[in-house]
Amino acid sequence: MRRRDWLMANAALPLAARAAQNAGPGPTNLVVSSANGLKACAKAMEVLKAGGDTLDAVVAGVTLVEDDPNDTSVGYGGLPNEEGVVELDASVMHGPTRRAGSVAAVRNIKNVAKLAKLVMEQTDHIMLVGEGALRFARAWGFEETNLLTERARMAWIAWKQSLRDREGNNNWTDGLDSPAALQAAERLKKLFPSASDELIAWALDVAAHPPTGTINCLALNARGEISGVTTTSGLAWKIPGRVGDSPIIGAGLYVDQDVGAAGSTGRGEENIRIAGAHTIVELMRQGMTPREACLEALRRIARNFRNNTELLNRFDINFYALRRDGLYGAASLWDGRMRRGYWADSQFAVNDGSGESRLEKCAHLLERKRG
Ligand code: ASP
Repeated sequence: MRRRDWLMANAALPLAARAAQNAGPGPTNLVVSSANGLKACAKAMEVLKAGGDTLDAVVAGVTLVEDDPNDTSVGYGGLPNEEGVVELDASVMHGPTRRAGSVAAVRNIKNVAKLAKLVMEQTDHIMLVGEGALRFARAWGFEETNLLTERARMAWIAWKQSLRDREGNNNWTDGLDSPAALQAAERLKKLFPSASDELIAWALDVAAHPPTGTINCLALNARGEISGVTTTSGLAWKIPGRVGDSPIIGAGLYVDQDVGAAGSTGRGEENIRIAGAHTIVELMRQGMTPREACLEALRRIARNFRNNTELLNRFDINFYALRRDGLYGAASLWDGRMRRGYWADSQFAVNDGSGESRLEKCAHLLERKRG
């Protein structure tokens, strides 16, 4: 059949028939996450194999990442807001009970995924923010910690020192009367003498390109139950109080036990504008595969910029989706990106219970120049 005829024939197929053509392998233990979730997927799979609940599984998985000081996009060690304070957002959804919980702009509490789960389980609300969320955490005995690691503080200082007024001055650098004008890297080295050159290069890079970063983790078990979590320190150098998509039910995360789950990482503002995770779940309900549904959500984001690739090139966004029948997929706005001289493909993590977690390539909407 010629491609055009095939497309026509397929378009004419009723939705239910199309869905049947794309059937997944059936309910099975399966965990999908953003690329920073290899360990999280493995941990979640361990919980699933022991017969644990799907939400317990993903929360146990992402807790490892929240505790990891080297992941600068989530929990402890996350990059701070413009005042140097780490503020975390998280959400959870439990398919079998169709419940949800979330917290936003939380300071000093490392494990906000667990906190979001407690909001779901122990309150009559869905979302707590800021001071109220902190007090709720205290009531439940969460330990308070300074979440700003030295590495994240160095990056924040690098960012403060990179800001200039119209005359090119900056109050956060050595003054005009300083005996020697230092380059940004030299200045940082002086302030953080034990930091390696590589770490300094990283700090200058994230200062210049405020990164996003998050973990989204979705799990299915052999009973066909499905749950998800998203947890993040959000956009680096954000205005205090800024809340991204991660704790917004329907944007950073959505689960419908009848259909499947979806989540997102990347520039949250664009995701909120299309209610991405909910959109993807609805598209899967109508028969799209997870991958097609993620790509369609990305098309809506591109449409919001009239497909202007110059503007779209200023950010990254990724969607992940897992259907109740075990079919999964992910798609990124861009095929990858250059960072500090290296090309990195857009990827996501999967653990199907057969061995270690693996990275798979995301589908993509647009291709970046690699030069
Ligand atoms: N989506 C998160 C936010 O906008 C950040 C990220 O995933 O990179 O807060």
